[in-house]
Amino acid sequence: MPDLIQISALSDNYIYLLHDEASGATLVVDPAEAEPVLLSLRQRGWTLTHILLTHHHNDHIGGVAELKAATGAKVVGAAKDHGRLPKLDQAVMDGDSVTVGGMTAQVLETPGHTVGHICYWFADQAILFCGDTLFSLGCGRLFEGTAQQMWNSLSRLAALPAAAKVCCAHEYTAANGRFAATIEPENQALRDRLSQVASLREQDLPTVPSTIGLELASNPFLRAADAQTFADIRRRKDTF
Ligand SMILES: [Zn+2]
Repeated sequence: MPDLIQISALSDNYIYLLHDEASGATLVVDPAEAEPVLLSLRQRGWTLTHILLTHHHNDHIGGVAELKAATGAKVVGAAKDHGRLPKLDQAVMDGDSVTVGGMTAQVLETPGHTVGHICYWFADQAILFCGDTLFSLGCGRLFEGTAQQMWNSLSRLAALPAAAKVCCAHEYTAANGRFAATIEPENQALRDRLSQVASLREQDLPTVPSTIGLELASNPFLRAADAQTFADIRRRKDTF
């Protein structure tokens, strides 16, 4: 299996590295800043080959220019957002494949947080890079898309295998959990997760990656019965 590295950046962002030992290829997802990425690469003796972007927000692309200049890595992002993403070497659409050494991701368009948001699904590695679409115990705010769009996007992610690692871009789990508990106070899986999260955060440890199975059991946004219920929960969270 490839090496998955999680790097903390800014106040609560996570940047991910995925390294394929056989080919030597290394990708980074949503580099909020360049310096911690370059440091991590140096420590491991890895060469960056690909920069994968989920959406255009600055805390996801802030380090791209510096990383591109330092490494020449190929920048991959949504064709629909090419006008507001850094210059793309590969512009992708739903269903496209992204090949990184011996690894292949399927592109999933997941509008909602932004209209151009995409996720990368590495089926053979069971790794999902989902940016600001799905968080542990939460989901991204609807800055551009509709509740129906986000519901459709989350439903696609919910259909991935239970073991799929959910590599989201923020450490929001504890705050999300306080809200989730108001929606499903009797959910034992959620209660167990909240205890685990509290313990991890006390030790200053990350609560993600999560898994699709864990989110299906505990995340009220994924557990909503339909788009209308989802929309109601999302609205309540926005004013929580
Ligand atoms: Zn965002």
